Amino acid sequence: MASFKLMTYETGEGPRAGMICGDAAFDVAGATGEPRYNSVMGIVSDWPRAKGVLAGFADRPGSSAAGALDLGHIRLLAPLPMPGAIYCAGANYRDHVLEMARAQNINPEPDPHTLGLKAWHFIKSSHCVAPPNAVLLLPAHSKKVDWEAELAVVIGRPARNVPVDKALDVVAGYTIGNDLSARDMSRRAGISDTSPFKFDWVGQKCFDGACPLGPWIVLADDIPDPHKLGIELKVNGVVKQSSNTSELIFDIVEQISHLSERITLHPGDVILTGTPAGVGAGRGEFLKAGDEVRITIEGIGELVNTFS
Ligand code: MG
Repeated sequence: MASFKLMTYETGEGPRAGMICGDAAFDVAGATGEPRYNSVMGIVSDWPRAKGVLAGFADRPGSSAAGALDLGHIRLLAPLPMPGAIYCAGANYRDHVLEMARAQNINPEPDPHTLGLKAWHFIKSSHCVAPPNAVLLLPAHSKKVDWEAELAVVIGRPARNVPVDKALDVVAGYTIGNDLSARDMSRRAGISDTSPFKFDWVGQKCFDGACPLGPWIVLADDIPDPHKLGIELKVNGVVKQSSNTSELIFDIVEQISHLSERITLHPGDVILTGTPAGVGAGRGEFLKAGDEVRITIEGIGELVNTFS
């Protein structure tokens, strides 16, 4: 069965879903004659039927000019400009936990599995999503905006109490996320260090443009093992993060399974799976106007943004 990638592109009348089949691109609703597939949310909400319909079109894209797009002249948006929920794993790469312990001059925590712990997530607002290739405005209230390259999982089926051995069945595909973080907003001044209200996760993780996503969604079927993907982030061409999803502490199936024990995961929800070593906080280096951030994940592509 022919494969394809899912994207969202800008038109004069707003965003629409597109699919990339090899070198060609198509408007999904136009190509398939299914009006509800005019958004990626509409497509993943009908997964896996939609996957079959789109794959059927991808098998013979040359047979129809319907919905054909000029890939060189369309502007990509985030593949899901407005996801459902965005769940984000924290402290979830072995190399990143070691790096942060070194930076704080403390002993690294033991593998949380040995303590019987489960994956830990926070929430990022869907309104933070930003498109690939866009210039993003650094928030004026922060002087320490940091990068975090992450493999992003896109949910394609409702999932509740999913066992680990079935967890990958609910994944529609994968894209790339940048979990931008305002480090100087993470702790509230004037609050005791021992207070449960010390940490400001909204302040640190949710601001306009805090979640670049893209450039497209690669189908789960086209990623034979999501736990063996090289992941790299460069700032102005200099490698800052270089790791592999094999370094994940809680892997993707553990994350899906644990989240689904407490809340139903819905099609169009996104899980940012954690970031590897090499964030700016580890070396006191943060984003400034003019910087270009380029994230590459093996088998998926590149997510590029510049900042002003
Ligand atoms: Mg993160």
